[in-house]
Amino acid sequence: MISTAFEYQRANSLDEAIKKLQETGGRGKLLAGGHSLVPLMKLRMSEPGILIDIARIPGLAGIREKDGKIEIFAATVHHDVASSALLAEKCPVVAETAGEIGDPQVRNRGTLGGSLAHSDPSADYPAVMLAVDAEIHLKGPKGWRIVKASDFFQDLFTVDLAADEIIGGVQFAAVKSAGYAKLHQRASGYAIVGVAAALDVKGGVITSARLGLTGAGSHATRMTNVEKALAGQPLSAKTIEAAAKIAGEGIKHVNADIHASEEYRRAMIPVFTKRALEKAMARS
Ligand SMILES: Cc1cc2nc3c(=O)[nH]c(=O)nc-3n(C[C@H](O)[C@H](O)[C@H](O)COP(=O)(O)OP(=O)(O)OC[C@H]3O[C@@H](n4cnc5c(N)ncnc54)[C@H](O)[C@@H]3O)c2cc1C
Repeated sequence: MISTAFEYQRANSLDEAIKKLQETGGRGKLLAGGHSLVPLMKLRMSEPGILIDIARIPGLAGIREKDGKIEIFAATVHHDVASSALLAEKCPVVAETAGEIGDPQVRNRGTLGGSLAHSDPSADYPAVMLAVDAEIHLKGPKGWRIVKASDFFQDLFTVDLAADEIIGGVQFAAVKSAGYAKLHQRASGYAIVGVAAALDVKGGVITSARLGLTGAGSHATRMTNVEKALAGQPLSAKTIEAAAKIAGEGIKHVNADIHASEEYRRAMIPVFTKRALEKAMARS
């Protein structure tokens, strides 16, 4: 199918994009890589009258370290995250996750901001943003506000983002001992189940842990029961094995679709939790 007719506009700054969004009176939508929005438009599940292209706004793409934190700007394509030397050195789990998204075409067009705003229940970035405890920086008509990743993802395709706000980027403290493991949906690469795990380790003991789960429910969530089971324990294969076993327990709703049944997804959550934790341990 082809989409309904729309007008194309390009913004040259965040403020211009916000102004354009307001002027459309709810008919406008931001366009970044187009790899989630355009398929929806072709299916006529989204019919924006005006597309506002933000992909070429100067300064909206890039990765840098500032004041001891990593910043990734919203229009950074997945390929640039996957191949970032800074991330490879300081926070490899984020680069690893980006490298697992889709295929080369998707990775060369799709952006971090688009993925977070869209919040597909099987998207990869939300899980890793939860694990690194990222702050999401949003700009709207009244200026900037910051939302923690754990508050940002709220429900199916629903995030804490107003219609006239734009994601500018994310910021997080680098964590080396972290890993991502996912069961790929073979055709698209989306996560049937994906787990990102980050461990803070001191003197061989896990002081705290953060685990983000995607693919299983309506939106990415933290697995706090596993985090609690890991905290204060020695970092060892035995600790990981025991903690991974309880992954998924207590989750009321688990997705079932043409790719996997609820039972299968439930069975895979501990498996991929263990793999993510093992990767984190290997990097510790
Ligand atoms: C074949 C295929 C396979 C894929 N496989 C995977 C996969 O394995 N894992 C995965 O995670 N994803 C996958 N994706 C999705 C891909 O990662 C998309 O690129 C991503 O979800 C959306 O990013 P985008 O830049 O293309 O956003 P767009 O499609 O341009 O926009 C998506 C939504 O976000 C909004 N938006 C975009 N940028 C911003 C911003 N800065 N601030 C506020 N709102 C914004 C848009 O208005 C729109 O509502 C796949 C897509 C395809 C087509």
